[in-house]
Amino acid sequence: MSIDLPVEEFMQRELLECPPTTPVGVAAQLMRDARCGSILVVDAGKPVGIWTESDALSGKWSSVADLDQPVSVVMSTPVKHIPLQTTLGEAARIFRVSGVRHFLVNDADGRHVGMISQTDVVRNQGVAFFLHARSVASAIHKAPDCVDAHTSFREVRELMHQRNLSAVVVRDGIRCGIITPRDVVGALGARQLDTCAAEVASFPLLTIPAAATLFQARDIFAKQRIRHLGVNDQNGVLVGLLSFADILDSVEHEYVHDLLVQLEHQTERLQITQRESDRQSNLTEAILNALPISVLVKNAEGKIIASNEMSNRIIGRPANDIVGRTEADLYLQERSLDRPDSANDDARVIATGQTLIRELQLRDGRTVLSHKRAIAVDDASLLIAAAMDVTEWKRADALMVSSHHVLELIVGGAELPAVLDALCKRMETHLVGALCSVLLLDADGKHLRHGAGPRLPAEYCRLIDGVAIGPSVGSCGTAAFTGEPVIVESIASSPLWANFAELAERFGLRACWSTPFFSAERKVLGTFAIYFQQPKCPDDNDQMVIAQGARLAALVVQRWQQIAELKRLATTDLLTNLSNRAHFIDSAEAELRRADRFNRDLSVLMIDIDFFKRINDGYGHAAGDEALRVFARALLKETREIDLLGRLGGEEFAVLLPETSPEAALLVAERIRTAVESSSFSFHRSAPICFTVSIGLAYLQSGDSLDSLLARADEALYRAKHSGRNRVERGDQA
Ligand code: GH3
Ligand code: MG
Ligand code: MG
Repeated sequence: MSIDLPVEEFMQRELLECPPTTPVGVAAQLMRDARCGSILVVDAGKPVGIWTESDALSGKWSSVADLDQPVSVVMSTPVKHIPLQTTLGEAARIFRVSGVRHFLVNDADGRHVGMISQTDVVRNQGVAFFLHARSVASAIHKAPDCVDAHTSFREVRELMHQRNLSAVVVRDGIRCGIITPRDVVGALGARQLDTCAAEVASFPLLTIPAAATLFQARDIFAKQRIRHLGVNDQNGVLVGLLSFADILDSVEHEYVHDLLVQLEHQTERLQITQRESDRQSNLTEAILNALPISVLVKNAEGKIIASNEMSNRIIGRPANDIVGRTEADLYLQERSLDRPDSANDDARVIATGQTLIRELQLRDGRTVLSHKRAIAVDDASLLIAAAMDVTEWKRADALMVSSHHVLELIVGGAELPAVLDALCKRMETHLVGALCSVLLLDADGKHLRHGAGPRLPAEYCRLIDGVAIGPSVGSCGTAAFTGEPVIVESIASSPLWANFAELAERFGLRACWSTPFFSAERKVLGTFAIYFQQPKCPDDNDQMVIAQGARLAALVVQRWQQIAELKRLATTDLLTNLSNRAHFIDSAEAELRRADRFNRDLSVLMIDIDFFKRINDGYGHAAGDEALRVFARALLKETREIDLLGRLGGEEFAVLLPETSPEAALLVAERIRTAVESSSFSFHRSAPICFTVSIGLAYLQSGDSLDSLLARADEALYRAKHSGRNRVERGDQA
């Protein structure tokens, strides 16, 4: 069916035109020559009227002079027109209701670009199928209107006009002709008013059998460019006159029916489209609502025209309370997604088309990353403001920075108390009002020692230092005991704090969350605790800080233990646990410089075990080792903490005695010598093994280096050996 196509496709583009002053007779001549059913009267390029075949029928042509009057007097006006986009179906409807047979077709600017006639519509209405199915006979309802060949032209015209006939058959003997409005126009054009029917009629009357189809009839109409056909029965008798209008009437019912079907199809298509578009918009809405980001859509005036669920949640209002407002409106309320200058941002984004990304702080402390960009939809500028809550990321990021700071301190070789102090201070920055502490497992494994607590009252730290580990010893003692975090939200009401609640209250401490931290071997190393001055329960962020604090504390303490162990290995003689030679020399050098600078007394003893070889030889090398350990213990016992003890090699030892005069040093040396002489040890159930030592003593003199001092002590030792062993000799005696 072509009824959906615009008339533009079917209209006549070449129009027969004449100026308004054209005599009617001339206009009729033009129409006859062009075999055209109408002429457009155009004045200064504008159609002012139309003169058609039906006007020719209805006109009062009393004398030939009437044909000299200007066409503008007899034309129909105004000229009806339809737009270029009118569909063929719509044009057919308009033709039927208006009773007009021609319409000018105007373009969008109102210029006439063509003409469409009823004939064009029938030709193109696409009712071929229907016309195939119906016979010409079905469209004939009466005998043809006939006139005799001698009837006057005036009478014929009168008859046609009165009976509203579109044609009459002219019988001239056995010949049949036809007079149509076109012939009337032709006669007027030839100025033949006083003529007879036979002169005006067109011969012969073209006919079609009644049994032919309307489709065949239409075909003849189109090819011959005529609008009437005589209809013969099977005997060749003229039984009717078929006109274009009859075809139109015939198709009308079918056409309306068809139009309804078309309409139904269109409605159905529309509903499908509507359902599809509903589905699309539901999908879009579902996706928007599933996003973990807030999305606001604003118009060019900054008014919010759509919001998703996340934005409603962040703003804290239902969608119907957001849509229609500006962000500034919302900002005046308690919570807001944006800052007051959001309007400026919006204007900038719309004006420049640039995307704007900002980090914004909400009033409730959360941080959002705002992303604004302009888009054009149907020529309107819209602003999409997306915002993501990045509070958690920011916190994690800040915690990471803190952790790096602490790790840098460890790597930089800072001392344990300094690193633990920094650890507490850093963790405190992530929790409002938090007071952090680290307690370390004591060497006895049964108590906790103060590690750090920079914001806790110093007196509290002192009192808690050395607290026992046990099943209900506050948060830390219990955490170290159970190996599990102990979260006490309110110290006052916690049974774990029964014995310490009064102490905590004295220092204004009301909540304490303690987490044990462990070595790689899962041994408790200590506890990381967070105190608050009011009862408090940890949230997700707090848990993150607790976990990180404990992790860092474990790292710090383990690292420190490893370093301490390395230091011990590097400076200690592993057999006797005294300083090794290198460390003794280093420490002695420092001590010597100090004594020199402050002019203090300093003595040194060189000690060698007598006949040590005999112990090795007599009892075995292991017994010799045991003798070395026994001697080391004796040495430790007979000296002060400030004295430096070193094993210089083999069975040779040195003792540096700060703040010690030669006389005092001599007493120490004698004490050592006698202690060794009077003791014995037994090795693997051997008989008691005894041994003695020889000692050389030297005293710091001005200008001495460690080498010279030790050389003098060595020389004294040599003398002691040669004077019979088990004795003390002074190296600085002349
Ligand atoms: P003197 O009275 O003259 O000092 O005689 P001495 O036997 O003590 O001295 P000598 O220098 O002849 O022998 C020292 C021995 O000490 C030799 C060496 O095998 C032994 N010795 C050195 N270091 C160790 C050690 O770490 N363990 C043991 N068991 N023996 C050692
Ligand atoms: Mg020796
Ligand atoms: Mg010896």
